[in-house]
Amino acid sequence: MRSDMAGRLYHVIDTRGFDRPLLDELCELTTTVRNIAKTVAGAQALQALLPHARAMLYFPQPSTRTFLSFNNACHILGIRTSEIRDPATSSEVKGESFDDSIRTFSSYVDVIIMRTPEAGYAARAAAQMDRIPRPVPIVNAGSGKDQHPTQALLDIYTLERSFADRGGIDGKVIAMMGDLKRGRTVRSLCGLMRNYRGVRLVLVAPAAFAMEDDVKVELRAQGIPFTETSRLADVLPEIDALYVTRIQTEWDTAEESRGMDYAQFGINLANLPLLKHDAIIMHPLPRGPEIDPAVDEDPRAVYWRQERNGMWMRVAILVKIFRLEDRIAALAATLPPAPADRA
Ligand code: ASP
Repeated sequence: MRSDMAGRLYHVIDTRGFDRPLLDELCELTTTVRNIAKTVAGAQALQALLPHARAMLYFPQPSTRTFLSFNNACHILGIRTSEIRDPATSSEVKGESFDDSIRTFSSYVDVIIMRTPEAGYAARAAAQMDRIPRPVPIVNAGSGKDQHPTQALLDIYTLERSFADRGGIDGKVIAMMGDLKRGRTVRSLCGLMRNYRGVRLVLVAPAAFAMEDDVKVELRAQGIPFTETSRLADVLPEIDALYVTRIQTEWDTAEESRGMDYAQFGINLANLPLLKHDAIIMHPLPRGPEIDPAVDEDPRAVYWRQERNGMWMRVAILVKIFRLEDRIAALAATLPPAPADRA
């Protein structure tokens, strides 16, 4: 993330620079906009905020939730959208460079939201924007195996909201499980943990997919205690949140994940009773076999809410980028209260 002034957002590249006041503000803003959007008058008022703005959604890497939630977040604020999802339909097939493609997008729009299979490309696009006469903000919607900052923000919102009556994230034990090596969501989420007091992390992974050292070095430097294990059953009774991830087979170079007994890294009706009654289960989705669909019925499963939270958090991110916080506060003060929402 690069903010040009304290508390402001411009490029959103990684989780560095997100401090607690900004995170708290984004979470509050997320709840405010979703409440405003519940009435027709509120939804229309939101759509009237940015009818002059245009966004480019550049998603050459596959996406369902992040693409759809950003697309709909833009529409909630009245932003018109253009998209490239298949590079075969763009001038990249004629050999146009990444830098020239990004510069071209910037000629037509006011924000570029992008996901690439390569790590570092969002940062590269942001650096290019900082050199050209008409820069636009770059939002990283997933860069290779490395970063997924807006997912981390919606995860923070989901955690805070789930623990709202228990002091929020502070003091919680959070387990992250699965392919921690190649999962960008857990890498980004770890990057935000320094903002919360008394948090302890439990990293549950097969040895082959343990969390990378760069993240662990950072956690140690920030004084965030963590333990590593491959035995989920041992830790289930002590954790407040279980953040499950899938094995990221798309990154296999030598079929590393083939034949792996992944059953130990899943949650199902057999091991669910070990989890505390007030713990929560999250997943960035899509899921594989690591969460039995029967678990969906359990009140501790919050991943479908987490998915929906993503759209509202992305509205809040756009509100911050376009500096509409005051307009949102004014709307919240004048519109009639919205019906209660349990999600
Ligand atoms: N949807 C998330 C991502 O894009 C998680 C995943 O694919 O496993 O990283």
